[in-house]
Amino acid sequence: MSVLDLAREDIRAMAPYSSARMEASGGTVLLNANESSRPPNIPGGDGLNRYPDPQPRALVNALAELYDSDASRVLVTRGSDEAIDLLVRAFCRAGRDAVLISPPTFGMYAVSARIQGAAVIESPLEPSGALDADRLLAAVTPDTRLVFVCTPNNPTGNLVDIATLRRLATELAGRAVLVVDEAYAEFSGARSAATLIDEFDNVAVLRTLSKAWSLAGARIGTLIAHQDVIGLLRRIIPPYPLPSPCVDAALAALSYEGRRLQRHHLQEILGERSRMAVELARLPGVREVLPSHANFLAVRFDDPAGTYRRLYAAGIVVRDITRYPGLGDALRITVGTGNENDRVLAVLRAGVPA
Ligand code: PMP
Repeated sequence: MSVLDLAREDIRAMAPYSSARMEASGGTVLLNANESSRPPNIPGGDGLNRYPDPQPRALVNALAELYDSDASRVLVTRGSDEAIDLLVRAFCRAGRDAVLISPPTFGMYAVSARIQGAAVIESPLEPSGALDADRLLAAVTPDTRLVFVCTPNNPTGNLVDIATLRRLATELAGRAVLVVDEAYAEFSGARSAATLIDEFDNVAVLRTLSKAWSLAGARIGTLIAHQDVIGLLRRIIPPYPLPSPCVDAALAALSYEGRRLQRHHLQEILGERSRMAVELARLPGVREVLPSHANFLAVRFDDPAGTYRRLYAAGIVVRDITRYPGLGDALRITVGTGNENDRVLAVLRAGVPA
């Protein structure tokens, strides 16, 4: 059995849109795509009159190398948000199929599923934040097509180890695709689930340049999956998803110098994360700082609403995560620069009621 047997029959059968750039490459006089032959009259406008390469080879290769995978297993998307959406649309029939999520977790899995008309099955994490593989597997129904596992998990920051992911991939083979969201992987140092794709065609891994690579504004996500899954999603991804200035920004960030700077920046965030975890835990009104493998800390407060307001009044915006199950007293605080973190601590130390 191939992973494609789990995909929507109609998507597999349909003729995908064939763009002008796909049908013919090369040439010097380009009159096949109804573009303007003149570049726009703006600074840096050279080349922007042309549609971009749908999957620029240089970027695909750079990402394949970065994620220790192969170019045939890489699809570059507009943020990993788009990869989530493409997976849901390719694998879930509206009104029939389902995705499985483990709350509290990233909200877009359920949102994309609902937009597609797919059901959302919930298998909550343990109160400790750990993922219980037996419990998750027991929740899988015959209609379940995608099982989302976020590691490190947003918003709790905890990891799912590779042995558990391997077990899930094994048990789900022929039944569902295991989608491992590694948006925060760089902050954890954990082994990527992309290594499982050699053995399991039902594993798909999500990565992004939005977090550890400081490029949230460029919207560069990567799906790493078996080439059949990549081929399937290429049938439904819009023809020119990646704006050329964003591709250029990503290539610059992944250059030798860009990587050197990124390593430095990453160390800084990891240092600040440890410092913040210790300092926050010492503050009155803080119940618990959840151990985090990501670039944020989920923090339990005696008075989360008051704390949120106090920070907000000082111009500091954190994320209220009290609506998530098991996190009714928690705020999520992204690790910022040293200065930004000092401001958070100063406001919380002042302890003035809102
Ligand atoms: N996955 C997780 C777990 C996230 O937290 C986020 C962003 N908050 C995303 C995916 C989406 O990231 P992007 O679309 O910027 O790549």
